[in-house]
Amino acid sequence: MKELKTSIDTRSDLEKIDEFYKFLTGEVVPKNIHLSKHATPKMTEKKAFAVIWFLQEHLRILPENIEKCSECGDLYDSNCEGVYWEKKGKNFCGACDHLVPENCNNH
Ligand SMILES: [Zn+2]
Repeated sequence: MKELKTSIDTRSDLEKIDEFYKFLTGEVVPKNIHLSKHATPKMTEKKAFAVIWFLQEHLRILPENIEKCSECGDLYDSNCEGVYWEKKGKNFCGACDHLVPENCNNH
């Protein structure tokens, strides 16, 4: 594949990983990327996040603070918002963390 001429990307980790996630699900292909229809990924959300998780936890290429909300499915930066529900082993973003009873008092 040809190399892209891109300027320095000043977006946050969350914005970049969210774009990658949407690229994997086929939801959004960035304007400067031209792939044939057959080369564009179309993964389920679960598979797409499994790829991100592998890059985070196994290869440690991507920052680990980007999590996927178990409730709404959005990605969020766990350094800035959201909670981890330990008993259930699930992550909740800032918009959904009121659903976690044991963390209610922390906000
Ligand atoms: Zn959420």
